[in-house]
Amino acid sequence: MITDETRDKLIASAREARKWAYAPYSNYPVGAAVLTASGRIYDGVNIENAAYPDTICAERVAIFKAVSEGEREFEAIAVVTTNAGSPCGSCRQVLAEFGLDTLVIIASTDSQVTRQMRLGELLPEAFGRRDLHGK
Ligand SMILES: [Zn+2]
Repeated sequence: MITDETRDKLIASAREARKWAYAPYSNYPVGAAVLTASGRIYDGVNIENAAYPDTICAERVAIFKAVSEGEREFEAIAVVTTNAGSPCGSCRQVLAEFGLDTLVIIASTDSQVTRQMRLGELLPEAFGRRDLHGK
């Protein structure tokens, strides 16, 4: 479990990153920040594209930044939007690759709405490596 101080820091990182979101089509900027087991924080933003399917979410940008730096264990991820929107299915699946115990913290920009739960609650019956290998 993370401390309240760490949780607040993670939310603040996601909120701060949000200013770099590239969201000219949806006008729905998203900031995310992931806390690794090593104690580092990687942030991310949504990056849209005129070819809509090439858009990527803030959560996956944060996770991919961390993974590309050698991180594999995640304690928590914070996601900040104006209305405390929930992570999409693709981001849940990408997070699930690294464990279902990751704490997912969903917050609004004004911190009036904050929810948190384990990834396993957000993505029950997740598809994973055991499904590929039958164990
Ligand atoms: Zn997503």
